[in-house]
Amino acid sequence: MASLGHIFVGVAAGRAWGGPRVWRPMLAFSALSFLPDLDVIGFRFGVAYGDPWGHRGASHSVVFGVAVALVVALLARLGDVPWRRALLFAAPVVVSHGFLDTLTTGGLGSALWWPFSDARHFAPWRPIPVSPIGRAFFGARGLRVALTEVVLFAPFWIYALWPRRRAEPRG
Ligand SMILES: [Zn+2]
Repeated sequence: MASLGHIFVGVAAGRAWGGPRVWRPMLAFSALSFLPDLDVIGFRFGVAYGDPWGHRGASHSVVFGVAVALVVALLARLGDVPWRRALLFAAPVVVSHGFLDTLTTGGLGSALWWPFSDARHFAPWRPIPVSPIGRAFFGARGLRVALTEVVLFAPFWIYALWPRRRAEPRG
């Protein structure tokens, strides 16, 4: 899918995390949610789509998501951020990426169970049109995909952007 859906998941997680500067966790969780797609860099180095480390391969697995979340927890602990909470937020955010990609119409599925299996998986219901990769992303088809994601992921970004109620002064 285009990156929008993943980013909406990230900003919603950031909103749930909260804090006075909520844009910071929003940014951090959006980056985490998007992270598995950095595997497209492999295309440049001759990694084929269907390879274990190809696009939607290992980086889209549950094991990878949990591993990233553990690293995040470690960094959180070093940075004096509640690490259990960081783990609890980061794991579903990163793991959601591979599962969301199984809902798309094209390409290969996600290698959800790597390293136990290299099989690629799709969900039985695939409502999200796959995003064109590279420059085509900015064309008409890319726009249609982006709009579809804005609609499908509306609950996430509406939740993230909903105005916060100011704390009522007590007394
Ligand atoms: Zn992906």
